[in-house]
Amino acid sequence: MAQRLIVIGGDAAGMSAASQARRRRGRDDLEITVFERGHFTSYSACGIPYWISGLVSGPEALIARDPQTFRTEYAMDVRMRHEVTTIDLERREVVAQDLEGGGEVRERFDELMYATGAVPVKPPWAATDAGGVFGMQTLDDGAALREWLDAEPRPRRAVVVGGGYIGVEIAEALIQRGLSVTLVEAGAQPMSTVDPDMGELVAEAMRGLGITIRAGLPVTGLEERDGRVSAVVTAEGPMPTDVVVLGLGVRPNSALAAAAGLPIGTTGGVQVDRRMRVLGMPGIWAAGDCVETLHRVSGMPVHVPLGTHANKQGRVAGINIGGGYATFAGVIGTAVTKVCDLEVGRTGLREGEAEAAGFDFISVIAESTNRAGYYPGARPMTVKLIAERPNGRLLGAQIVGWSEAAKRIDALAVALWNGMTVDDMTALDLGYAPPYAPVWDPVLIAARKAVDALSALDR
Ligand SMILES: Cc1cc2nc3c(=O)[nH]c(=O)nc-3n(C[C@H](O)[C@H](O)[C@H](O)COP(=O)(O)OP(=O)(O)OC[C@H]3O[C@@H](n4cnc5c(N)ncnc54)[C@H](O)[C@@H]3O)c2cc1C
Repeated sequence: MAQRLIVIGGDAAGMSAASQARRRRGRDDLEITVFERGHFTSYSACGIPYWISGLVSGPEALIARDPQTFRTEYAMDVRMRHEVTTIDLERREVVAQDLEGGGEVRERFDELMYATGAVPVKPPWAATDAGGVFGMQTLDDGAALREWLDAEPRPRRAVVVGGGYIGVEIAEALIQRGLSVTLVEAGAQPMSTVDPDMGELVAEAMRGLGITIRAGLPVTGLEERDGRVSAVVTAEGPMPTDVVVLGLGVRPNSALAAAAGLPIGTTGGVQVDRRMRVLGMPGIWAAGDCVETLHRVSGMPVHVPLGTHANKQGRVAGINIGGGYATFAGVIGTAVTKVCDLEVGRTGLREGEAEAAGFDFISVIAESTNRAGYYPGARPMTVKLIAERPNGRLLGAQIVGWSEAAKRIDALAVALWNGMTVDDMTALDLGYAPPYAPVWDPVLIAARKAVDALSALDR
């Protein structure tokens, strides 16, 4: 008799796992049922800001495979608009609510794939029934924001609360749509994924786009009029707005797992081993934004909700469910984004993270250009390196600059992944031609500066 795999969550992690499992096990060997509470499967939430701005069409353009494709080509029973509300480990059953048809279904499983993603952080002050307040996590969230922006009366003013990379990307999208945009951030700088000194460069670029930045200003409430949000409240009084987007980060969507008795770690994510098996729970798997994972530099469990990890982890789980062998090696915190043409990349630990992990370290900032200084289009590029003392091992890197900046972080990520020291890095054979780099690449200049800083201290 065929075994039964139930997948909860039909996006990156869940559908990667389901597809891999199907590739290895035919329908006579493994029946696959997917429950997805939203309207879409296998979509790119990463593309939402570019759909909001109008740069890409949507939502179809952001969907890699729709439910019908999974049904016909992958022989999966995909139940859209079904929300799993209970996992019964004893009976090995899930209970799901049909959000449109009404009623409840129960399905038995041999293997369970938990891939529910993350939920936007929503502080108590944001609990409101007023229209015009949006979290941003799924394509449904993006669709709801688009609908609000297109409806009458047309919103003219927007406040983005929180300056993580999603808040920054949405602020850019809204200004490109012609709204007047204010980004309110409780911390010192927007773009909290990099250190404040690097974040200031991003803030400057945002101001250049016309985005008003109010940093160091916590939001304490919302005001509404006629069922619509009308202002964001701060210590400085109400800030009028027609739409509010919450960019306060996300937390693992692990409540359902916790209620079922699955182990939850210190970050709030489901605990898994390297094969994406939920710890101590045979036949139960989890992957993506709902799990915590190992940071290879700090050695600590972390919650790093990124699509790149969700896809890899889902694939690992699916290979294992399919009878193969695969492991997920952990993360080093590599991420890239942009504000208009200003690119931002980071990998490894920021200064605060290195401190929290107990490292003794130096950090240096090197200013250079993306191309040879004489080549048309040469623009500034700032590289920050963080290296352990006294051995010089690279712990983290950040880059802010114009074209060719963001993906340069990949060279640094490979160096960091392989435990290179800044001294080793000075000898790296990186590509050079005037349109792509100065003769000393910004990465090499930064590595040399870090070597100098370490030797000055140890003299
Ligand atoms: C605006 C934005 C920009 C981003 N940009 C990037 C980027 O540039 N690079 C990058 O690497 N990452 C980016 N990300 C993050 C990336 O999209 C996520 O890390 C990725 O989608 C996580 O995949 P997942 O499958 O774990 O979770 P999700 O994509 O959140 O999917 C989980 C699914 O589970 C469903 N679900 C949840 N609970 C239930 C339930 N009880 N029953 C049934 N279904 C349920 C949800 O509806 C959802 O569809 C971005 C995210 C956003 C929101």
